[in-house]
Amino acid sequence: MTESKTTANVATLAPPVLILLGPPGAGKGTQARMLEKRYGLVQLSTGDLLRAAVAEGSEAGKAADKVMKSGGLVSDEIVIAILRDRLSDPDTAKGVILDGFPRTTVQAEALDELLAESGQKIDAAISLEVDDEAMVHRIAGRYTCGECGEGYHDSFKKPKVDGVCDVCGASNMKRRSDDNAETVAERLAAYHKQTAPLITYYEQRGALQRIDAMGSIDEIATTVSRAVAEATRK
Ligand SMILES: [Zn+2]
Repeated sequence: MTESKTTANVATLAPPVLILLGPPGAGKGTQARMLEKRYGLVQLSTGDLLRAAVAEGSEAGKAADKVMKSGGLVSDEIVIAILRDRLSDPDTAKGVILDGFPRTTVQAEALDELLAESGQKIDAAISLEVDDEAMVHRIAGRYTCGECGEGYHDSFKKPKVDGVCDVCGASNMKRRSDDNAETVAERLAAYHKQTAPLITYYEQRGALQRIDAMGSIDEIATTVSRAVAEATRK
C-alpha cells in the first residue's frame, strides 16, 4: 500500500533538473551553493561526477578510469551512464543542478533522452548573462593581499593607502596572472562561442532563463530563485 503511494508521488513530482550556464566570473558557484541551501538541490559537476564514479568503481567509473589513464577524453556515453547512476542516488531526490554538462547540443540531446527514461526533463537552463566589457573591467581590476588574502579592486575597493593592506598592513599585493584584460576577454569569447548553440537549443525548447548577472550577489540570487521556483512549479 505504502509502496504504491510512494511510486505515484515520485511519478507526479519528478525532481527538478536545472542547468547553470555562465562565463567564469559570473558567480556560478555562488548561485549554485545558494540553490543547494535554499532548495536542497545537489550540484553535479562533470569533474566531480567522474572522480566519484572512478573512486566508487562502478562499471561506468571503471570505463572512465581506463580512458582517462590512457590520456583520452571520456565519451558522452560514459558520462551519461555515470549521470544515470548518480541521478538514482537518494540525495538527488530534491533535484540537481548540472554544471559543465552538457557542453554541446549532441550532449544536450543525449541528456534529454536520459531524462525522458524517467519522465524527467530539463526544467530550466539558467544563463547568467554578463556585459563582457564590464566583466573584463571587474575581473582584470582585482587583486589580493599576499599576506592575509583580503581582496581589493582598482576601481571598486582600493586600500586606504595605495599598495598597503587595510587589514594587516602588508604591502605585497598579488594579481593572478590569468586575470589580465586580454586573457579575460579571450575566456569570455571562448565561453560565448562554446555556449551559443546550447543557448539556442534550450531557448527553442522554452527552457532558457536569461538572468542579468551584473548586479549584486543578492540581487542575482533573488532573480535566480524566482526563475527556479517558477520552473519547478510547472
Ligand atoms: Zn593583508
